[in-house]
Amino acid sequence: MSNSLISDLIKLVDANQLRQNLFSLSKSPLPYRKLNHTVPGNIKNTLYQTDDFIQKKLESWGYGVQKEGVKVRAFSCDISKPKAHQYSSPTEESPWFTAYNLYAKKTGLVYPEEIILFLSHKDSQSWVDSPGAYDNCSGTVSTMEIARVLKDYPAQRSFWFLFCNEEHTPWTSVSAAENAKSRNDNLVAIFNLDSMGGKSQAEINAGLKTNVTLFTKPQGEQFADLMGEVNRVYSIGLNQRKQKRETPGDDDGSFIKSGFPIAIMNVGSFPYADPNYHLETDIPELVDIQNLWMSTQASLAAGLSVDLGEM
Ligand SMILES: [Zn+2]
Repeated sequence: MSNSLISDLIKLVDANQLRQNLFSLSKSPLPYRKLNHTVPGNIKNTLYQTDDFIQKKLESWGYGVQKEGVKVRAFSCDISKPKAHQYSSPTEESPWFTAYNLYAKKTGLVYPEEIILFLSHKDSQSWVDSPGAYDNCSGTVSTMEIARVLKDYPAQRSFWFLFCNEEHTPWTSVSAAENAKSRNDNLVAIFNLDSMGGKSQAEINAGLKTNVTLFTKPQGEQFADLMGEVNRVYSIGLNQRKQKRETPGDDDGSFIKSGFPIAIMNVGSFPYADPNYHLETDIPELVDIQNLWMSTQASLAAGLSVDLGEM
Protein backbone atom coordinates (compact mmCIF):
# COMPACT_ATOMS: atom_id res chain seq x y z
CA MET A 1 0.00 0.00 0.00
CA SER A 2 1.23 3.42 -0.95
CA ASN A 3 1.66 6.27 1.49
CA SER A 4 1.71 9.83 0.13
CA LEU A 5 4.00 11.02 2.93
CA ILE A 6 6.61 8.44 1.93
CA SER A 7 6.30 9.23 -1.77
CA ASP A 8 6.69 12.96 -1.03
CA LEU A 9 9.74 12.44 1.19
CA ILE A 10 11.64 10.19 -1.19
CA LYS A 11 11.28 12.87 -3.88
CA LEU A 12 13.53 15.04 -1.70
CA VAL A 13 16.49 12.70 -2.22
CA ASP A 14 18.80 14.89 -4.29
CA ALA A 15 21.20 13.42 -6.85
CA ASN A 16 23.31 16.59 -6.74
CA GLN A 17 23.83 16.31 -2.99
CA LEU A 18 24.87 12.70 -3.47
CA ARG A 19 27.27 13.61 -6.29
CA GLN A 20 28.84 16.58 -4.50
CA ASN A 21 29.45 14.71 -1.27
CA LEU A 22 30.75 11.70 -3.21
CA PHE A 23 33.36 13.78 -5.04
CA SER A 24 34.31 15.73 -1.88
CA LEU A 25 35.06 12.48 -0.04
CA SER A 26 36.66 10.40 -2.80
CA LYS A 27 38.42 12.92 -5.03
CA SER A 28 38.79 16.50 -3.86
CA PRO A 29 39.57 17.75 -1.29
CA LEU A 30 39.83 14.20 0.13
CA PRO A 31 41.38 11.57 -2.18
CA TYR A 32 41.08 8.83 0.48
CA ARG A 33 39.53 8.28 3.88
CA LYS A 34 42.17 6.50 5.88
CA LEU A 35 44.13 6.92 9.07
CA ASN A 36 47.48 6.28 7.38
CA HIS A 37 47.17 8.98 4.74
CA THR A 38 47.39 12.73 5.27
CA VAL A 39 47.10 15.20 2.40
CA PRO A 40 50.39 17.17 2.23
CA GLY A 41 50.09 20.46 4.11
CA ASN A 42 47.37 19.12 6.42
CA ILE A 43 47.66 18.14 10.06
CA LYS A 44 44.79 15.68 10.23
CA ASN A 45 44.76 12.40 8.34
CA THR A 46 42.11 11.91 5.65
CA LEU A 47 39.82 9.81 7.85
CA TYR A 48 39.76 12.49 10.55
CA GLN A 49 39.08 15.06 7.85
CA THR A 50 36.25 12.86 6.62
CA ASP A 51 34.84 12.76 10.15
CA ASP A 52 34.97 16.57 10.27
CA PHE A 53 33.23 16.83 6.90
CA ILE A 54 30.40 14.46 7.89
CA GLN A 55 30.01 16.04 11.34
CA LYS A 56 29.75 19.56 9.88
CA LYS A 57 27.09 18.46 7.41
CA LEU A 58 25.07 16.66 10.09
CA GLU A 59 25.29 19.65 12.40
CA SER A 60 24.17 21.97 9.60
CA TRP A 61 21.04 19.81 9.37
CA GLY A 62 20.37 20.21 13.09
CA TYR A 63 21.81 16.94 14.40
CA GLY A 64 24.13 16.58 17.35
CA VAL A 65 27.06 14.25 16.66
CA GLN A 66 28.52 11.77 19.15
CA LYS A 67 31.89 10.09 18.67
CA GLU A 68 32.97 6.67 19.93
CA GLY A 69 36.69 5.91 19.73
CA VAL A 70 38.08 2.46 18.89
CA LYS A 71 41.76 1.46 18.66
CA VAL A 72 42.59 0.14 15.19
CA ARG A 73 45.48 -0.39 12.81
CA ALA A 74 45.84 -0.24 9.04
CA PHE A 75 45.94 -3.53 7.16
CA SER A 76 49.21 -4.53 5.53
CA CYS A 77 49.32 -5.11 1.80
CA ASP A 78 50.23 -8.61 0.60
CA ILE A 79 50.92 -8.37 -3.13
CA SER A 80 51.13 -12.15 -3.46
CA LYS A 81 47.34 -12.28 -3.01
CA PRO A 82 44.80 -11.63 -5.81
CA LYS A 83 44.39 -7.93 -6.64
CA ALA A 84 41.13 -7.15 -4.79
CA HIS A 85 42.09 -9.16 -1.68
CA GLN A 86 45.56 -7.96 -0.74
CA TYR A 87 44.69 -6.91 2.79
CA SER A 88 46.50 -8.87 5.47
CA SER A 89 47.18 -8.63 9.19
CA PRO A 90 49.07 -5.58 10.42
CA THR A 91 52.76 -6.07 11.16
CA GLU A 92 54.25 -5.82 14.66
CA GLU A 93 55.35 -2.26 13.91
CA SER A 94 52.01 -1.07 12.50
CA PRO A 95 51.01 1.96 14.58
CA TRP A 96 47.73 2.10 16.47
CA PHE A 97 45.23 4.88 15.79
CA THR A 98 41.91 5.85 17.29
CA ALA A 99 39.15 5.49 14.70
CA TYR A 100 35.79 7.03 15.49
CA ASN A 101 32.25 5.85 15.05
CA LEU A 102 30.06 8.90 14.41
CA TYR A 103 26.44 8.88 15.52
CA ALA A 104 23.65 11.31 14.66
CA LYS A 105 20.37 10.62 16.42
CA LYS A 106 16.82 11.80 15.88
CA THR A 107 14.45 11.00 18.73
CA GLY A 108 11.07 9.53 17.91
CA LEU A 109 7.98 11.40 19.08
CA VAL A 110 5.78 8.37 19.81
CA TYR A 111 8.02 5.34 20.34
CA PRO A 112 11.42 6.90 21.12
CA GLU A 113 12.84 3.63 22.49
CA GLU A 114 12.37 1.91 19.10
CA ILE A 115 15.38 2.66 16.91
CA ILE A 116 15.73 2.45 13.13
CA LEU A 117 19.45 2.34 12.36
CA PHE A 118 21.15 3.27 9.11
CA LEU A 119 24.88 2.59 9.00
CA SER A 120 27.74 2.77 6.53
CA HIS A 121 31.47 2.35 6.79
CA LYS A 122 33.04 5.64 5.83
CA ASP A 123 36.71 4.65 5.54
CA SER A 124 38.56 3.70 2.36
CA GLN A 125 41.00 0.80 1.98
CA SER A 126 43.94 1.21 4.36
CA TRP A 127 46.31 -1.14 2.47
CA VAL A 128 45.98 0.35 -1.00
CA ASP A 129 45.50 3.86 -2.45
CA SER A 130 41.93 3.39 -3.59
CA PRO A 131 39.47 6.30 -3.41
CA GLY A 132 36.84 3.71 -2.47
CA ALA A 133 34.17 5.64 -4.34
CA TYR A 134 31.72 2.74 -4.45
CA ASP A 135 33.26 1.00 -1.43
CA ASN A 136 31.99 2.78 0.55
CA CYS A 137 31.72 6.46 -0.23
CA SER A 138 28.44 5.58 -1.98
CA GLY A 139 26.84 4.20 1.18
CA THR A 140 28.29 7.01 3.28
CA VAL A 141 26.75 9.76 1.16
CA SER A 142 23.51 7.79 0.94
CA THR A 143 23.23 7.62 4.74
CA MET A 144 24.08 11.34 4.90
CA GLU A 145 21.36 12.10 2.36
CA ILE A 146 18.76 10.10 4.29
CA ALA A 147 19.70 12.08 7.41
CA ARG A 148 19.34 15.32 5.47
CA VAL A 149 15.92 14.43 4.06
CA LEU A 150 14.66 13.40 7.50
CA LYS A 151 15.95 16.48 9.33
CA ASP A 152 12.51 18.07 9.80
CA TYR A 153 10.43 14.90 9.62
CA PRO A 154 8.39 14.25 12.78
CA ALA A 155 9.47 10.63 13.23
CA GLN A 156 7.39 8.28 15.37
CA ARG A 157 10.39 6.11 16.13
CA SER A 158 14.01 7.13 16.62
CA PHE A 159 16.38 7.24 13.66
CA TRP A 160 20.08 6.72 14.27
CA PHE A 161 22.77 7.25 11.65
CA LEU A 162 26.07 5.50 12.27
CA PHE A 163 29.25 6.09 10.29
CA CYS A 164 31.76 3.35 11.12
CA ASN A 165 35.03 1.91 9.74
CA GLU A 166 35.56 -1.45 8.02
CA GLU A 167 38.75 -1.08 6.00
CA HIS A 168 41.01 -0.89 9.07
CA THR A 169 41.24 -3.61 11.70
CA PRO A 170 39.33 -4.41 13.84
CA TRP A 171 36.10 -3.21 12.26
CA THR A 172 34.64 -0.49 14.47
CA SER A 173 31.08 -1.69 13.82
CA VAL A 174 31.93 -4.57 16.19
CA SER A 175 32.28 -2.15 19.12
CA ALA A 176 29.18 -0.25 18.02
CA ALA A 177 27.14 -3.46 17.95
CA GLU A 178 28.51 -4.77 21.26
CA ASN A 179 27.81 -1.44 22.94
CA ALA A 180 24.28 -1.42 21.52
CA LYS A 181 23.75 -4.91 22.96
CA SER A 182 25.13 -4.05 26.39
CA ARG A 183 22.90 -0.96 26.57
CA ASN A 184 19.98 -3.14 25.46
CA ASP A 185 19.19 -0.78 22.59
CA ASN A 186 15.89 -1.68 20.97
CA LEU A 187 17.01 -1.70 17.34
CA VAL A 188 13.89 -2.53 15.32
CA ALA A 189 15.48 -2.23 11.87
CA ILE A 190 19.12 -2.13 10.77
CA PHE A 191 20.05 -1.08 7.24
CA ASN A 192 23.72 -1.34 6.29
CA LEU A 193 24.33 0.64 3.10
CA ASP A 194 27.53 -0.52 1.40
CA SER A 195 28.77 -0.16 -2.17
CA MET A 196 25.35 0.86 -3.44
CA GLY A 197 25.02 0.63 -7.20
CA GLY A 198 28.34 -1.24 -7.64
CA LYS A 199 27.78 -3.92 -10.26
CA SER A 200 29.29 -6.02 -13.04
CA GLN A 201 30.45 -4.68 -16.39
CA ALA A 202 27.64 -6.64 -18.06
CA GLU A 203 25.04 -4.97 -15.83
CA ILE A 204 26.61 -1.57 -16.53
CA ASN A 205 26.52 -2.25 -20.28
CA ALA A 206 22.86 -3.30 -20.03
CA GLY A 207 22.01 -0.03 -18.23
CA LEU A 208 20.60 -1.86 -15.23
CA LYS A 209 20.02 -0.08 -11.92
CA THR A 210 20.62 -2.79 -9.36
CA ASN A 211 20.20 -3.39 -5.66
CA VAL A 212 20.58 -6.62 -3.72
CA THR A 213 19.29 -6.86 -0.17
CA LEU A 214 21.26 -9.40 1.83
CA PHE A 215 19.77 -11.02 4.89
CA THR A 216 21.43 -13.65 7.01
CA LYS A 217 18.83 -14.76 9.57
CA PRO A 218 15.12 -15.47 9.00
CA GLN A 219 14.27 -12.32 11.01
CA GLY A 220 16.03 -10.23 8.36
CA GLU A 221 14.04 -11.55 5.42
CA GLN A 222 10.99 -9.35 6.15
CA PHE A 223 13.18 -6.28 5.58
CA ALA A 224 14.52 -7.74 2.33
CA ASP A 225 10.89 -8.26 1.25
CA LEU A 226 10.10 -4.71 2.31
CA MET A 227 12.85 -3.41 -0.01
CA GLY A 228 11.17 -5.24 -2.90
CA GLU A 229 7.77 -3.91 -1.91
CA VAL A 230 8.76 -0.23 -1.69
CA ASN A 231 10.60 -0.51 -5.00
CA ARG A 232 7.31 -1.66 -6.61
CA VAL A 233 4.86 0.53 -4.72
CA TYR A 234 6.82 3.75 -5.21
CA SER A 235 7.87 2.85 -8.79
CA ILE A 236 11.53 3.42 -7.96
CA GLY A 237 12.68 1.32 -10.90
CA LEU A 238 15.48 -0.69 -9.33
CA ASN A 239 16.36 -4.15 -10.48
CA GLN A 240 15.85 -5.30 -6.87
CA ARG A 241 16.38 -8.77 -5.49
CA LYS A 242 16.95 -10.37 -2.11
CA GLN A 243 19.52 -12.97 -1.20
CA LYS A 244 20.24 -14.97 1.91
CA ARG A 245 23.86 -15.16 2.91
CA GLU A 246 25.21 -18.20 4.66
CA THR A 247 27.27 -16.45 7.32
CA PRO A 248 27.14 -12.96 8.80
CA GLY A 249 29.34 -10.53 6.89
CA ASP A 250 30.21 -6.83 6.64
CA ASP A 251 28.94 -4.31 9.17
CA ASP A 252 25.44 -5.81 9.28
CA GLY A 253 27.20 -9.03 10.28
CA SER A 254 28.74 -7.27 13.28
CA PHE A 255 25.23 -6.53 14.52
CA ILE A 256 23.96 -10.03 13.76
CA LYS A 257 26.84 -11.55 15.74
CA SER A 258 25.98 -9.26 18.67
CA GLY A 259 22.40 -10.50 18.77
CA PHE A 260 20.54 -8.34 16.24
CA PRO A 261 19.41 -10.88 13.61
CA ILE A 262 17.25 -8.30 11.81
CA ALA A 263 20.27 -6.56 10.24
CA ILE A 264 20.36 -6.44 6.43
CA MET A 265 22.63 -4.88 3.80
CA ASN A 266 21.84 -3.03 0.60
CA VAL A 267 24.59 -3.51 -1.98
CA GLY A 268 24.77 -3.10 -5.75
CA SER A 269 25.54 -6.75 -6.53
CA PHE A 270 26.25 -10.04 -4.77
CA PRO A 271 28.71 -11.66 -5.06
CA TYR A 272 30.07 -8.14 -5.39
CA ALA A 273 30.95 -7.67 -9.07
CA ASP A 274 32.34 -4.14 -9.49
CA PRO A 275 35.42 -4.65 -11.72
CA ASN A 276 37.22 -1.91 -9.74
CA TYR A 277 36.58 -3.45 -6.32
CA HIS A 278 39.37 -2.52 -3.88
CA LEU A 279 41.48 -1.08 -6.70
CA GLU A 280 42.95 2.38 -7.30
CA THR A 281 40.36 2.68 -10.09
CA ASP A 282 37.32 2.72 -7.75
CA ILE A 283 36.85 6.41 -8.63
CA PRO A 284 33.78 8.67 -8.32
CA GLU A 285 33.57 9.28 -12.08
CA LEU A 286 32.57 5.62 -12.45
CA VAL A 287 29.81 5.70 -9.84
CA ASP A 288 26.32 5.36 -11.31
CA ILE A 289 24.73 8.36 -9.55
CA GLN A 290 21.25 7.54 -10.82
CA ASN A 291 21.52 4.03 -9.38
CA LEU A 292 22.80 5.45 -6.09
CA TRP A 293 19.90 7.93 -6.04
CA MET A 294 17.36 5.14 -6.61
CA SER A 295 18.93 2.86 -3.98
CA THR A 296 18.86 5.76 -1.51
CA GLN A 297 15.18 6.40 -2.24
CA ALA A 298 14.36 2.73 -1.69
CA SER A 299 16.34 2.54 1.55
CA LEU A 300 14.64 5.69 2.83
CA ALA A 301 11.21 4.38 1.83
CA ALA A 302 11.88 1.17 3.73
CA GLY A 303 13.00 3.05 6.84
CA LEU A 304 9.91 5.26 6.69
CA SER A 305 7.67 2.23 6.26
CA VAL A 306 9.07 0.83 9.48
CA ASP A 307 8.61 4.18 11.20
CA LEU A 308 4.97 4.39 10.12
CA GLY A 309 4.25 0.81 11.14
CA GLU A 310 3.54 -0.20 7.54
CA MET A 311 5.15 -3.60 7.59
ZN1 LIG B 1 35.82 -3.06 1.17
